[in-house]
Amino acid sequence: MTVGIVGAGQLGRMMALAGYPLGLDFLFLDKDAGTPGGQVAPLIAGALDDRELLGQLSQRCEVVTFDWENIPVASLENLPGAARISPPLRALAVAQDRLTEKRSFELLGIPTTQYAAVDSRESLELAARTIGLPGILKTRRLGYDGKGQFVLRKPADLDRAWEALGKAPLLYENLVPFDAEVSVIAVRGLDGDVVFYPLNLNVHREGILRLTRAPYGNVALTRQAHRAAKKLLEHFRYVGVLTIEFFVKRGKLIANEVAPRVHNSGHWTIEGAETSQFENHVRAIAGLPLGSTRARGHSAMINLVGQMPTRERLLEEPGLHWHDYGKSARPGRKLGHLTICEASARTRDRRALKLLSRVDRETWLAVR
Ligand code: AMP
Repeated sequence: MTVGIVGAGQLGRMMALAGYPLGLDFLFLDKDAGTPGGQVAPLIAGALDDRELLGQLSQRCEVVTFDWENIPVASLENLPGAARISPPLRALAVAQDRLTEKRSFELLGIPTTQYAAVDSRESLELAARTIGLPGILKTRRLGYDGKGQFVLRKPADLDRAWEALGKAPLLYENLVPFDAEVSVIAVRGLDGDVVFYPLNLNVHREGILRLTRAPYGNVALTRQAHRAAKKLLEHFRYVGVLTIEFFVKRGKLIANEVAPRVHNSGHWTIEGAETSQFENHVRAIAGLPLGSTRARGHSAMINLVGQMPTRERLLEEPGLHWHDYGKSARPGRKLGHLTICEASARTRDRRALKLLSRVDRETWLAVR
């Protein structure tokens, strides 16, 4: 069976690397063979929304999936060929727009932030008055890693925020004074079977995920997350991996956003869980039984951003797992990650923080 992947970034690359041992083949669509996915599997070169090339992909594959969720849904509708598309386009469409995303949370009874659509300077004024300050203004579409966002703390910020973002459709929401940020990764198989990973505790810096530790949280918190994920998976009759990001405030989860795909906060599962998120995504979309999501000990994942640290020196660290996505260095770009798995959360935390400051000294600070 050949799996088509639209987008050959690091997520697609890790899907293919997880799927080859299962006996599956892969074919990417992306701009060139130098992309992370193109370095490990065959690739059709072209734009991700090229109907002609998407048609070729769906004719040459049994199933088509994505490593990027912002592909225009219209370009994926009614493709020639018999390929299944997983996850479903309806889930993709909802996740592409922060407004429909919030409405879906509400519809399904998943607690989320207060929000209002903003499409004029007047509606921004009204939203800030109704929901209050501080708040955060976000572009409804194409925001990632904190891009397309503006935090408003005082009335004078309204003009600046409008000037910065006012050209696109927007969403205003209250700024949540959260205790922590977590995410949950869940998988639904072709036969409707659903499995969940434990919670991930995430630390962002300048809008980019910096550190994930898992498993996190008590039974009650985990149950809230799993319940929310199950509702979304069943609502969309979803197939594949789905991720929800939450704020934690006083032991309660507030949904921030949903990603219809494997997620950066789940990279630790490659070594730290019995079946990785990538393998389970591929298993789900290929119609294979899902694998165990049980954590093997306590894991930490550190993103390598902007510049790679010295491989030779870090590999001297016992038990350190090194992932290089094969991308060229650029400030703010995710180039790779490190994972460690320890027998206790305490050892994991101590070691992760030490590693993080070491990586910081070498890379993060160097590129700013
Ligand atoms: P997002 O692109 O929505 O995931 O936002 C990126 C990051 O900005 C989040 O991980 C939070 O750290 C922060 N953020 C976004 N929305 C809010 C909010 N409503 N309240 C507090 N922090 C937020």
